[in-house]
Amino acid sequence: MPTSREYARLRSRMVDEQLVERGVSESRLLDALRMMPRHQFVPDEHKPQSYDDKPLPIGDGQTISQPYIVGFMTETLRLKPHHRVLEIGTGSGYQTAILCHLADYVYSVERVARLAETAGARLGDLGYSNLDIHIGDGSQGLPDQAPFDRIMVTAAVPRLPQVLCAQLSEFGGQLILPIGSAPAQELMLITRATDRFTRRSLLGCRFVPLIGRYGFDSKTDSASFVS
Ligand code: SAH
Repeated sequence: MPTSREYARLRSRMVDEQLVERGVSESRLLDALRMMPRHQFVPDEHKPQSYDDKPLPIGDGQTISQPYIVGFMTETLRLKPHHRVLEIGTGSGYQTAILCHLADYVYSVERVARLAETAGARLGDLGYSNLDIHIGDGSQGLPDQAPFDRIMVTAAVPRLPQVLCAQLSEFGGQLILPIGSAPAQELMLITRATDRFTRRSLLGCRFVPLIGRYGFDSKTDSASFVS
């Protein structure tokens, strides 16, 4: 197993080569990525690859997103320290930790109880307390906590859930999410200005499916979505 010094070296290389070289430039975000111990979010058998340029399995057929995707999605949302954020698909909690670092408060929803509990414990150990993890179907958002300045969905939906658009702040609220099926989806950014919603297509991507009322059904095979 690498030592914490070796991890720090790998992490710094990850940020330079996978993020900065590909255009991620916001300094608060780069600082968060430079200090976040990604290997603590990865199961033991994959720890040596924690800083590689790829997603990794985290159990229950799910994955921790590729570092570049975390950087790209987060930078696109241009988070401000006063923002209230909704994340759907807590998974390992790595993306959650980056959001907690940059925003005021993060609500995160995860369908798999074991993942939610492990992620919550990790975030507590790292000292984050500005978050609330819910176990359940995030495809319906969290209407009781709405509106949100930003919403990030880290699993693919077949079509845009209107219920999530309705939970965006009327004053420039933004939603980022992968839309489409296996094997490829499109990462989309939705921006709200009162009752007007604009859509922008950002890039092609591959996420595991969001399983739920406004996602895919529970018989969907996650393995066909990610290789
Ligand atoms: N951001 C996470 C990505 C995890 S993968 C990370 O980098 O670790 C996507 C996650 O979405 C999985 O943990 C999966 O269990 C979860 N998920 C799938 N359907 C969901 C739903 N309807 N509501 C909440 N979470 C869901």
